[in-house]
Amino acid sequence: MRIGVLGGGQLGRMLALEGIPLGNRFAFLEPAPQPPAAAVGTIISAPYDDPAALDRLADAVDVVTYEFENVPAASARLLAEKVPVFPPPAALDATQDRLAEKRLFEELGIPVAPYRTLDTPAELGDALDAVGLPAVVKTRRFGYDGKGQAVVRTAAEAERAAKALGPGLIAESQVPFGRELSVIGVRAADGSRVCYPVTENHHRGGILRASWAPAPGLERALLRTAGRYATLLMDRLEYVGVLAIELFESHGRLLANEIAPRVHNSGHWTLDGTQASQFENHIRAVTGLPLAAPRVRASTAMLNIIGEMPDVTAVAALPGVHLHLYDKDPRPGRKLGHVNVVGANGETLADRVEQLERLLRLVDGK
Ligand code: AMP
Repeated sequence: MRIGVLGGGQLGRMLALEGIPLGNRFAFLEPAPQPPAAAVGTIISAPYDDPAALDRLADAVDVVTYEFENVPAASARLLAEKVPVFPPPAALDATQDRLAEKRLFEELGIPVAPYRTLDTPAELGDALDAVGLPAVVKTRRFGYDGKGQAVVRTAAEAERAAKALGPGLIAESQVPFGRELSVIGVRAADGSRVCYPVTENHHRGGILRASWAPAPGLERALLRTAGRYATLLMDRLEYVGVLAIELFESHGRLLANEIAPRVHNSGHWTLDGTQASQFENHIRAVTGLPLAAPRVRASTAMLNIIGEMPDVTAVAALPGVHLHLYDKDPRPGRKLGHVNVVGANGETLADRVEQLERLLRLVDGK
């Protein structure tokens, strides 16, 4: 099949790297020059809302998907008039606005941290009364990788953050979480679905640094709960493709943080840790192939390469290591690649991760 992708970043690149062996060809609509997906398909270089470019994409492909959730929902709808678009554009409406997303969680009985909308400075006092301090103030739209949000510890800090972030905010309680988890589900058009094992995620500065999967020591009941949340959301959205939910594990409960209607960084471990990756299953779902069982091959850790490149030769020399580089120029805070490390047991894996962290300079707070 010919697959069109809105966005040509590393997620698009990995979708193609897994989708080409299944007999597919790829075209990407991407406004940025020299995107990571340039090596694996045709690039239509234009803004996401350029009608002529959307037409060209629709004419060139059999199905459209996205690798980036902040594409205009209107563009996805325009494309959907001409060609199947998966996941359905309505999933973008639900995930592009944090308020709509929280309401969806609540509708399905999925717990979230206490929150209040914050549209004018006059609402700040009431919002803080409701959610307490410390709190996290977030823009409702277009936030990612910790951008568009601030942790606030006092009313004065909250006021400053609200002013800096501008209107259209949400304030939520800062969750005293034990750890962050995520669950990745996949749903096919015929309603069949699979879920990957839950992943443990470590963030710094709002950016994912490392994932461990399957999440070590997770209670079976919580594992089942996470899978149930994914299933509820996918069924409710009549979803086709991969969906990720970010969760907080807090005092023996799971609270939902946000949904990504796409393949997700916390699922990159599946490339080397399972028999069929999230990218392969997304492509299977959007092209109408049966989903593959997400069977785990080995405990896996994923470490992101952020900001600067490590000594690639030294990384490649470590046993059990799989390098995935995105062909991006180094820049502070930019995801340049990731490394998956597998280990036959927890001890071997921990040992390999320690060596790798040294090479990636993730130790000592850097
Ligand atoms: P988000 O953009 O909502 O995924 O937030 C990015 C990161 O900020 C999360 O992965 C958490 O590490 C942290 N964070 C966001 N919201 C909260 C919250 N309500 N309580 C505690 N930490 C949070």
